[in-house]
Amino acid sequence: MPIATVNPANGETLKTYEAMGEEEIERRLQLAEATFRTYRTTSFAERARLLDRAAGLLDDIQQDIARVMTTEMGKPVKQARAEAAKCAKAMRWYAEHAESLLADEEPAEYDVKDSGASRALVRYRPLGPVLAVMPWNFPLWQVVRFAAPALMAGNVGLLKHASNVPQTALFLEDLFHQAGFPEGCFQTLLVGSGAIDDILRDERVKAATLTGSEPAGRAVASTAGNMVKKTVLELGGSDPYIVMPSADIDRAAEIAVTARVQNNGQSCIAAKRFIVHTDVYDRFAERFVEGMKALKVGDPLEEDTEVGPLSSEQGRADLEELVDDARRSGASVLCGGQRPDGPGWYYPPTVIADVTREMRIHREETFGPVATLYRADGLDEAVLIANDSPFGLSSNVWTRDEAEVDRFVRDLEAGGVYVNGMTASHPAFPFGGVKRSGYGRELSGHGIREFCNITTVWHG
Ligand code: NDP
Repeated sequence: MPIATVNPANGETLKTYEAMGEEEIERRLQLAEATFRTYRTTSFAERARLLDRAAGLLDDIQQDIARVMTTEMGKPVKQARAEAAKCAKAMRWYAEHAESLLADEEPAEYDVKDSGASRALVRYRPLGPVLAVMPWNFPLWQVVRFAAPALMAGNVGLLKHASNVPQTALFLEDLFHQAGFPEGCFQTLLVGSGAIDDILRDERVKAATLTGSEPAGRAVASTAGNMVKKTVLELGGSDPYIVMPSADIDRAAEIAVTARVQNNGQSCIAAKRFIVHTDVYDRFAERFVEGMKALKVGDPLEEDTEVGPLSSEQGRADLEELVDDARRSGASVLCGGQRPDGPGWYYPPTVIADVTREMRIHREETFGPVATLYRADGLDEAVLIANDSPFGLSSNVWTRDEAEVDRFVRDLEAGGVYVNGMTASHPAFPFGGVKRSGYGRELSGHGIREFCNITTVWHG
């Protein structure tokens, strides 16, 4: 895949980049290691000052970077601005909370004595250079979600961003540098995915995090496993969105539209499978389809566009295949389902009903504005359908019945259960999945501790 900015709204190649060669990669690895040696000794206050400054700079240039993101991967520009604002908020959150999240832990006095110690504590120390392999769908947020806690913990970052968002990747390196982080704290490696194996095998790289597809996750995790290096993987999802009879059905249908088409439908935590109790199925389906049909699809740089193009021609072809396979196998297409003529990689908001287990769309992730509708006879069947997926990232349930909420929280195989609302990440809450959605957690205290050396300090 060439490293290039190709505008998904018209397919035009705007800028291409030469991949960094071996020498440049070596220079950057050396710099990362050297910088880590001193950066690891800086205070939380100093790191927080720099990260707060990065947040301020990001706020100042929010408009510009939003347009760059939209031009590189096609998200509506309004959503791109919101993404930049969310990144600044996460930076400030970690600047404020990292010190307490990583404060020394004191074991219980009884246990300290029992171990024969006069004193004991647990300290969180940084690991070193961490490689982040990141996707294009939230090109700022996915990176900041890793970088803010990593830098606050005293680690340094090496970013291998997706090949279709090179300008955003270079912007990020520049942002941290402009904020005053020492050179080498955060570097972008402009390389294709073929270069990752060697970089990950390098002794100077201590750990890796990857957000993206399952094959990419598998490749990085197996090399890292071979080298005995820690990884965190976030590999997408096919989140269920369950609607029970006691819910506010109109509201559930309205939010369902946003939950499905946010980011042109290319979000790992988008609701993708809509599982509706048979008593309210018809009403929900009618409102939901109405909402999907009413969306404004068009140029992502226009302020009122709600759905832009998919990020790549391949992405659209993959999505189309899933819809065509379902149609051929007997599914009903309630709206959409046909690519428009004309330039750009557009695909219309689509709702598919009468889905069966044999269809690919039942098991695979639909990375675009395509929803599947399922009818469930009751809570047990809803849970069965929801869990009948290789993924387990997040889940959404709509009900006003507390006993039902307890059952869903007990039984849904997912890293999150969002009740009467849609999944959205927040710096204070852990983010990640089970099953083939990956392992480990990002954000919150759990996220910042993933790349720490959890050290026992024992005094005789
Ligand atoms: P990829 O997983 O291919 O890309 C994500 C990142 O991984 C990119 O930086 C990519 O680099 C890199 N990468 C790809 N293959 C390897 C490898 N073998 N070793 C190391 N790094 C690798 O995602 P795609 O863009 O191809 O999207 C395909 C599907 O993945 C989507 O349809 C969706 O289902 C899922 N996905 C999920 C995301 C999520 O948020 N969880 C985000 C993006 C995609 P390069 O760009 O150079 O290939």
